[in-house]
Amino acid sequence: MPEHILVAVAWPYANSQIHVGNITGSHLPADIFARYQRLVGNQVIMVSGSDSHGTPVALRADADNSTPLQVYQKYHAGFLELFQKLGVCYDLFTSTHTENHFEVSQDLFLALLENKFLYTERQKQWYAPSQKRFLPDRYVEGTCYICGYENARGDQCDNCGNLLDANEIINPRSKIDGSVPELRETEHFYLDMAQLEPAIVEFLRQRESYWRPNVLRQSLGQILAEGLHGRAITRDLDWGIPVPVPGWEGKCLYVWFEAVIGYLSAAIEWAQVEGKGEAWERWWFDPQARAYYFVGKDNIPFHAVYWPGQLIGAGDEFGRLFAGREQTRLTLPYDVPANEFMNLESQKISGSRNWAVWGLDFLTRYDPDPLRYYLTVNMPESKDTDWDWGDFVRRNNDELVATWGNLANRVLSFAFKHWDGRVPDPGELRPEDTLILQTVEAGFESVGEQLTAVRLRAGLSEALRLATEVNRYLDRTAPWFEIKQDKAAAAKSIYTALRAIDSLKILFAPFIPFSSERLHEFMGYEGHLFGEQFVETRGDALGEHTVLRYRAGDGKARWQPSQLQPGSALRQPEPLFRKLEPSVADEERARLG
Ligand SMILES: [Zn+2]
Repeated sequence: MPEHILVAVAWPYANSQIHVGNITGSHLPADIFARYQRLVGNQVIMVSGSDSHGTPVALRADADNSTPLQVYQKYHAGFLELFQKLGVCYDLFTSTHTENHFEVSQDLFLALLENKFLYTERQKQWYAPSQKRFLPDRYVEGTCYICGYENARGDQCDNCGNLLDANEIINPRSKIDGSVPELRETEHFYLDMAQLEPAIVEFLRQRESYWRPNVLRQSLGQILAEGLHGRAITRDLDWGIPVPVPGWEGKCLYVWFEAVIGYLSAAIEWAQVEGKGEAWERWWFDPQARAYYFVGKDNIPFHAVYWPGQLIGAGDEFGRLFAGREQTRLTLPYDVPANEFMNLESQKISGSRNWAVWGLDFLTRYDPDPLRYYLTVNMPESKDTDWDWGDFVRRNNDELVATWGNLANRVLSFAFKHWDGRVPDPGELRPEDTLILQTVEAGFESVGEQLTAVRLRAGLSEALRLATEVNRYLDRTAPWFEIKQDKAAAAKSIYTALRAIDSLKILFAPFIPFSSERLHEFMGYEGHLFGEQFVETRGDALGEHTVLRYRAGDGKARWQPSQLQPGSALRQPEPLFRKLEPSVADEERARLG
């Protein structure tokens, strides 16, 4: 039975381009995982979208002398271009500025209100007399009261990573004009996390055996040490989703509360655009469905603690309000395989200082697979890692080109030339031929096991190890010399190597899909391993928005060993990857900063 798997990816703020740290933090691991699950034959939907509301977008609009809507649309368009060029195959990448998302978010809010997990409280908030308005937490900067860092944001400290109570920040100043704000009273809704705490702790305990230690530390560990407290879910802000309660005009749902609801609303929108009506319920109301959340470490509390709290608190009320369903429960996260951060040349990535490798800019000079490869072998799964241009060039040349690309190209070219463009007939295989095929075919278990557990680095390194084994096999059998004395023996070696490469093509496919697709074509197959992406414009009461969609392939490619037939036609091969000059590293370093 195919499983229903939701691949949920942190919603990027539409206020900046996407850099390699963002890619390796969430989008790429999600895509590798989703591609693998599709090859296995599971029912996958991978969703995310642009976080178009909230203060990061409003701040950028202020800085650019633009409007939040224009800012979101500009960066959103860049995201869609990048995901297509990099092959990040979202079933739906949408945005939070859609009528559907407004409705789903407001219903989830009302479900929590109905179930009495919301309360109101008058609180003090920073108010800027110079601008006659309340300042969102992110508009206030000051000294972190936990670690003393002087440029902490009101909501979170970038230095120690702690979420902050903005009112406690020391030496506050407005990010807009540097003026000193004052605390004034205002009223807000709060999510009653203290009341939800026992259920959230139980939810985390059930996942303790397989979650990453860093994620458990920032969820269960933190709760056991400090307990949970109510958290405001509305703001005095006009760019966002209105609070659906009379008398609350002029206030919006807080983005931390609203953006995560996008995982649910995007699945609903996906079913709409596919013309599949209620199909989303298979992922959201079925207890057997598995939901994986790919996020960076700064997002752990929101996905491992608050979002489960929102889902638990909504109970069966959301299904009743939104879909007229009784006794439904929203699917809780199965895993939150959050990544740590990637640095650049030993320094923290900083967009504002241009200390970054931007995804789209990179792809003007290089192919997507080398980027996907390097970001996977270097993925910050358990600790921070570093993008080093010298290391990028070395791994491209020594691993991608030398170990895998040359293996495939050498064998295919040789077969094409000496056997009339066809797969040679090996007759009966020798023991060493059978042995290498068994070794490679065991990879469907071993690589698959790592991918299932979201240990992507280990999965890729296992695939590369198997490619090395095939190179060793060819060193031993040496068909390039064998053919001069005994063409039948060379046919056995080349057939065996071709079949091993045909299997390796699938094992590598989730990681480096572009080269696997080309190899699939060179091996003579019709059709593609994966489906295709396309952009579509949709209209609703809020105007038009563009979405990225995915049309599934013919579904013939499967996570299983090659069945390559002797005599089948090959196509003229070409090299899969390009070798890079060592000087590339210095040229690229000169572009930084
Ligand atoms: Zn701090």
